Amino acid sequence: MRKYVVMGVQGSGKGTQSALLSKAFDLVHISVGDIFRWHVQHHTKLGAQVRRIMSAGELVGDDLVEAVVRDRLQMHDWNYGFVIDGFPRNGRQAEFFLESYDIDGVIHLDLPDEEVRRRVLNRRLCTRCGMDYNLIADRPEVEGRCDVCGGELVTRADDTPEALASRLREYHSKTRPVLDIFRRKEYVVNVDARPDPETVQREIRKLLGLPVD
Ligand code: AMP
Repeated sequence: MRKYVVMGVQGSGKGTQSALLSKAFDLVHISVGDIFRWHVQHHTKLGAQVRRIMSAGELVGDDLVEAVVRDRLQMHDWNYGFVIDGFPRNGRQAEFFLESYDIDGVIHLDLPDEEVRRRVLNRRLCTRCGMDYNLIADRPEVEGRCDVCGGELVTRADDTPEALASRLREYHSKTRPVLDIFRRKEYVVNVDARPDPETVQREIRKLLGLPVD
């Protein structure tokens, strides 16, 4: 059983790296942001509660987040383990998590704020299948259309300069202390998130002592 947490500022590749790791080792990928986005898109009651908070780039309340994480992990479909990304994002969430689950490693994707801005403001998301694009490094073949399913590509509601500035502030003030909690327990591996996704993935596996190929 392998249980990992992926942390990093927006645009650092948490989703991409978690997906690569989960696929290779049969782990369940749990993204709290994706769960919330699903609810917003499907106009559920939870979606209505979080929509405005998310598009302002603010953090959803801890009670709600913890309930979502608890429900998701209670599905127990993670026979070989899980990779959770976007959680925990503050000290309280970290304490809650550590009380209930033991973890094998925390992957910290390190990216300077300047690079975050460049990536995030060029990010596009498929409205149908959720595939992520970047207009600099990973352009779709047909402008505005998903290569995989043909769905429409849009900018995430929280990928505006204002929301990004707010998320960067939140990250530095609230999420950094989480890393310190994990660091004290010696769980954390630091990975430079600037290279291409394959290189970053190789580095993650090397640092976690996992087979690289
Ligand atoms: P992400 O896709 O991880 O960037 O998450 C998108 C948005 O969902 C965040 O900006 C928050 O509004 C909300 N969110 C996701 N994870 C959390 C969390 N652990 N705590 C609070 N809010 C969260």
